[in-house]
Amino acid sequence: MAKSLVTNSSRRPQVEPLPVEFANTLSAVRGCLVEGLGSPAELESWLRRHRDLFPEPGPLRKDELRAGEQQLAHARVLRDALRRLIAARVDRKVPDPWDIAHVNRASGMSQSWPVLVWRDAHAPGADSLCTADAVTHALSLIARSSVLLLSGEQGALLRSCRAPGCVLFFYRHHPRRAWCSSGCGNRARVARHHARRCVGDGK
Ligand SMILES: [Zn+2]
Repeated sequence: MAKSLVTNSSRRPQVEPLPVEFANTLSAVRGCLVEGLGSPAELESWLRRHRDLFPEPGPLRKDELRAGEQQLAHARVLRDALRRLIAARVDRKVPDPWDIAHVNRASGMSQSWPVLVWRDAHAPGADSLCTADAVTHALSLIARSSVLLLSGEQGALLRSCRAPGCVLFFYRHHPRRAWCSSGCGNRARVARHHARRCVGDGK
């Protein structure tokens, strides 16, 4: 599982649920936002690295995983809508109906079904086909996972990292987990220490 965390693996060793990993393709370094889906190739790469997190990785195994500008735009719009929905869930606010509609629309953009593959007389197998291209299907699966995560009990364990400058979300696997990464925990402790010193010094 850990090998799927190529992006930011040194900063975020914890593997998050698929929707959270996808939402975290927008990160921040020293106050500047960093776009993790900067090109169709980056989208393809992200999907390949995270395919083990998909509930149904069949279509993602194929060489057909080819993204174009249209799918990249679709991915970013879905990602941004998902970020706002997660933030609303974390902050217990009513989300924008447009974001809900967009995730629901993406959820239904592709359907899949199992097919029998039988080339060896003794070893029949199964594959899956889908109604859309592999990238659109993958985005549809992310949207479905998002619906389940946000609407289920696990949604109550979603958190925004409150470390200075961090824009990532995380799933609180452990009750004591307070940050997206140990690096953010250290930065937050340093910032608190500095703030206390400034107060103590009368600054
Ligand atoms: Zn963080």
